[in-house]
Amino acid sequence: MAEVLVLIDHVAGQVKKPTYELLTLAAKLGEPSAVFIGGADGAAGAAEAVKGYGAEKVYVIDDAQIKGYLVAPKAEALAQLAASASPAAILLPSSAENKEVAARLAIKLDSGLITDAVDLDESGVATQSVFAGNYTVKGKVTKGTPIITVKPNSAAPVEKAGAAAVTPFEVTISDAAKTAQIVASQPRKASGRPELTEAAIVVSGGRGTGGDFSAVEGLADALGAAVGASRAAVDSGWMPHTFQVGQTGKTVSPQLYVANGISGAIQHRAGMQTSKTIVAVNKDEEAPIFELVDFGVVGDLHTVLPAVTEAVKAA
Ligand code: FAD
Repeated sequence: MAEVLVLIDHVAGQVKKPTYELLTLAAKLGEPSAVFIGGADGAAGAAEAVKGYGAEKVYVIDDAQIKGYLVAPKAEALAQLAASASPAAILLPSSAENKEVAARLAIKLDSGLITDAVDLDESGVATQSVFAGNYTVKGKVTKGTPIITVKPNSAAPVEKAGAAAVTPFEVTISDAAKTAQIVASQPRKASGRPELTEAAIVVSGGRGTGGDFSAVEGLADALGAAVGASRAAVDSGWMPHTFQVGQTGKTVSPQLYVANGISGAIQHRAGMQTSKTIVAVNKDEEAPIFELVDFGVVGDLHTVLPAVTEAVKAA
């Protein structure tokens, strides 16, 4: 069975959940192999982590020649691995950086590219949600090695034992790829909450919060969820733009999305309508968000959310 390469999403060797989702999708297309780009110290831990999700091999590309630069060296390294392993497909977790890596890789391999897939079937047909979520498009790469970036939360990770045989892979990065250097990088302040685009549960607030997000944050923390916001809440200066969900914010696809004091404008829906279960709390029973929900509560969020939070904590 042909190999399917999955780029491991990690921070200092700590493997992130989208990797497991991609390994699960990769198993539909062939034999999943994970690719770790990073220092040798993190490789063993990463291999151990992906072992439980069906990775038969873990290619380790030492990042000594890669770190300190922007995306080009990564694309060059993956192209060299692809030339050697001849995979059936290459999957990368969707992120701004990985989409650029994927585009450069597609040019190097003379292959087709699909970005931001939300599903992938056995025949390599990828599903995308486009035009602010108004259309669902199914597409397939018809040239070269399919390169597909997949959004977080697109598949439920399925545990499956794999050999995870660590396979070091030497790369030679050209000077031409080392043209854009990182001059500073600052880690985001840790909030203790999951990353918005990766969280299994997102609790969001809108203009209906009146600027008081304490009830939204209280429920989010009780559920171990990320906090999101509508543009109205962000434009009002109540939450930073990094929290915005929607057409001009982030796209989330969690198992559970709880919209509080959010009317359900099309631009907000564009960022959350692929969530598996949607719950809304709104005091207006005519609010458009109720057309979309699996469960709706007509009421004041400042009363409803603290009661739900207490119930969650007591459960
Ligand atoms: P509102 O529409 O004002 O709704 C507030 C809701 O809160 C109402 O339904 C009200 O009944 C309810 N409410 C009030 N008080 C309470 C209470 N105490 N308890 C419970 N419910 C209460 N929007 C986004 O969110 N994300 C985007 O990325 C985005 N991109 C955009 C891009 C463009 C080009 C444009 C034109 C617009 C964009 N918007 C986006 C804005 C979008 O059109 C809406 O204006 C915005 O989503 C409205 O936010 P809201 O639902 O919080 O506010």
